[in-house]
Amino acid sequence: MVTISEVKGNSRENRTAAHTHIKGLGLKSDGSAETTGAGFVGQVAAREACGVVVDLIKCKKMSGRAVLLAGGPGTGKTALALAISQELGTKVPFCPIVGSEVYSTEVKKTEALMENFRRAIGLRVRETKEVYEGEVTELTPEEAENPLGGYGKTISHLLIGLKSYKGTKKLRLDPSIYEAIQKERVTVGDVIYIEANTGACKRVGRSDAYATEFDLEAEEYVPIPKGEVHKKKEIVQDVTLHDLDIANARPQGGQDIMSMMGQLMKPKKTEITDKLREEINKVVSRYIDQGVAELVPGVLFIDEVHMLDIECFTYLNRALESSISPIVILASNRGKCTIRGTEELVAAHGIPPDLVARVIIIPTNTYNPDEVKTIVRLRARTEGLFITEPALNKISDHGVKVSLRYALQLLTPANILARVAHKKEIDVDAVAECEDLFLDARRSASIVNNNEDTFIS
Ligand code: ATP
Repeated sequence: MVTISEVKGNSRENRTAAHTHIKGLGLKSDGSAETTGAGFVGQVAAREACGVVVDLIKCKKMSGRAVLLAGGPGTGKTALALAISQELGTKVPFCPIVGSEVYSTEVKKTEALMENFRRAIGLRVRETKEVYEGEVTELTPEEAENPLGGYGKTISHLLIGLKSYKGTKKLRLDPSIYEAIQKERVTVGDVIYIEANTGACKRVGRSDAYATEFDLEAEEYVPIPKGEVHKKKEIVQDVTLHDLDIANARPQGGQDIMSMMGQLMKPKKTEITDKLREEINKVVSRYIDQGVAELVPGVLFIDEVHMLDIECFTYLNRALESSISPIVILASNRGKCTIRGTEELVAAHGIPPDLVARVIIIPTNTYNPDEVKTIVRLRARTEGLFITEPALNKISDHGVKVSLRYALQLLTPANILARVAHKKEIDVDAVAECEDLFLDARRSASIVNNNEDTFIS
């Protein structure tokens, strides 16, 4: 069953390209982790713990709480956060940011945090719309040929048969709707819904009609008069509070939820003020009380959380207590370090102890050589690269001795070098050449140490 509507998605630009092999947590139905599953290798305890978090979120027992993924660099913290969001499904907003992103000369840091909080809070609005419901059928050759209603043959090949609910009529569709149907990959036999008065239909160019129907008895297409619709259907739209904020940043329209949703499609930009957010919140809570809308707390993922400063942490603490807080997942690869914005307050993970006290901590561990090799192999396969076994061993060795990230980063340049040398596979020579061209952090640091006088200090 396919619904065609004009809702804009709430996805943020994709910054998770390094994790395309991760498809979920890879857990069995009893919650235990397969050694390798859904692209995840090892890190079994952390994956099982994340599975429990997913269950808690699903039964709405997690709101206002936070999770801290703590472990060394490249131990899969970001991959785990992403997998949690995949397990929750696409309707649950997932907003990934890096701690340092909140610092900007244009926006206050707490303001930037607030914006991301609202990106991670979804709203599901149920709206009853007037729609045509029908099953897609094929047109007979005569129908397809028939250039009725003055539309001419040029668009007649775009006609698609759509049996109306009465089963006796066929709708003639505007080309733009036909395009929308094609995008949804609708085929014969599917049931689809078309909004009765979309702008697309209006483009048919007749003021008295939103669409036309094929009347079998009269054997012609007749316009459907304004307002005459076949069925009312509940349409569900998913948006985030941030979508509503930007959509309503320019004051106009009504204060009801439908006109707020209507603003989504219109381009504009003015400042989002606290006052505007308060107004949106008020309307949203009213509609939640009336049962028209439902809040969907999503996930706000803050990577490198030690980059936040004490002011942000205080804000975070307070925001978590709000009744409309998303689930916050923090990640840090730091041990003890100074909390940013303080003179010498040292704390584990660079997070104030009062915040650490209220989070669930999931540790991630370093990988053993076998796990590293499996991850490198998986990544090579995902990127469509061919690699010889000895080369794979050599790269994996770096994953153990240096870091998994360094090993994974060698794959693409090694492939380019192999191709330049007209080889079909990445071989040991290509990897060796890469090692010489690209230093790992440790070798680079030792060069700095040994040649201090050649660098500016
Ligand atoms: P950092 O602290 O440096 O941000 P991180 O803990 O967030 O590191 P990731 O970015 O998740 O580490 O992992 C580095 C790379 O290794 C990514 O491409 C990730 O998809 C992959 N990876 C990490 N752990 C696993 C795993 N257990 N299975 C499969 N791939 C993994």
